Amino acid sequence: MDLAGASAPSLRIDGVSKRYVSDKLALDEVRFQARSGEFVVLLGPSGSGKSTLIRLIAGIETLDSGEIAFDGKTVARAGKHLPPEERDLAMVFQDYALWPHMKAVENVAFALRRLKMGASERRRMALEMLDRVGLAANAEQYPNDLSGGEQQRVALARALVAKPGLLLFDEPLSNLDADLRERLRVEIASLTRECGSTAVYITHDQSEAFALADKIGVLHAGRLVQYSTPEALYTAPETPFVARFTGLAGELPGYIESWIGDDTVVVRIGDTRVTAHAGSLDRSQLGGNVHLLIRTAAASVAQATGDIDRPATNELDGTVCDVAFRGRGYDHVVEVSNGHRLVGVFGAERLDRGMQVQLVLDPTGCFAFGDADAGVATTPVVESRSLASLSSLAR
Ligand code: ADP
Repeated sequence: MDLAGASAPSLRIDGVSKRYVSDKLALDEVRFQARSGEFVVLLGPSGSGKSTLIRLIAGIETLDSGEIAFDGKTVARAGKHLPPEERDLAMVFQDYALWPHMKAVENVAFALRRLKMGASERRRMALEMLDRVGLAANAEQYPNDLSGGEQQRVALARALVAKPGLLLFDEPLSNLDADLRERLRVEIASLTRECGSTAVYITHDQSEAFALADKIGVLHAGRLVQYSTPEALYTAPETPFVARFTGLAGELPGYIESWIGDDTVVVRIGDTRVTAHAGSLDRSQLGGNVHLLIRTAAASVAQATGDIDRPATNELDGTVCDVAFRGRGYDHVVEVSNGHRLVGVFGAERLDRGMQVQLVLDPTGCFAFGDADAGVATTPVVESRSLASLSSLAR
């Protein structure tokens, strides 16, 4: 079955806001654009607004302000709302949402009910699509007789069979176990691209997002805080939240000792120096406290050499606290001299607990953010009651 043929729309989300009942905005002026055929993943923790945004795109929810347009044609703005069935889209849900009283093939054929074709042609296409997702043998079974993974394949077949222009995925893998999740992820990626549809996929799982996306949008408390390629997100996170949510070995406090060019700083940490991306820092912050955020892939570990010229730039002394075998090598938890810990630090050799080691940092995966940006109080917070007792002591 040739899946291509969908006329995939470009997607424009322009200043979209949504408030439910409370004062809190579920979505706050979200804007981004997806090109025709692009695979967009919206990534964020629970409560960040992912479901609200995908439901607005689907037309299941109405927006308060802003605009949603497919191929330049408005489908939603205040006072205008095109219903889901008029948006040429299909959605795959976390809980599969299959009709329990219909067999697998009937569930899939149901998606073709609005197209001008006979029942036997609908059935033929549904069977072909089930074959594509590896379920030809299960076509006559009811959802309750299928495993979770099989039910999600039926749901995927149902979404793809009518070749919709826009495919929406609402955390489709989160109810499946790890091995199945990985296999179905690969199938979603290849079938969606074969179909040519524009896709929007929501998840809280950063590895899923990086594996699937042409573009990732990170949501934090209803706001889209970064929208870029997975590579740009990984190598140049714009905020500490984005860096933390997309995988860090850990964070170390230090101060800016000097600048190299416009976008690199030298951070002093104890008796060593680490070069790092300057991020949103500016030169007026020279000497100021920063947090050095370190990507997992940027940290590696080797046995300490006892070299008298050390510590060299981008190297820190540490002690192994834990080690875990990972097949291709070992992940270590390393405590550096100031008591901070880095996790998931790779080493080809096993370095045992208690060993003195040398932590080597790759500057391309190190980001310096000012303490205020990093969400760390720059001055200790002292309650007024404590201040009162302090002043009475001082008398
Ligand atoms: P996510 O999908 O990232 O977990 P949601 O879009 O479900 O986030 O929720 C965003 C915010 O909107 C949360 O604060 C949530 O409590 C709130 N919210 C979501 N749905 C409703 C609703 N139907 N009524 C009231 N508040 C809601």
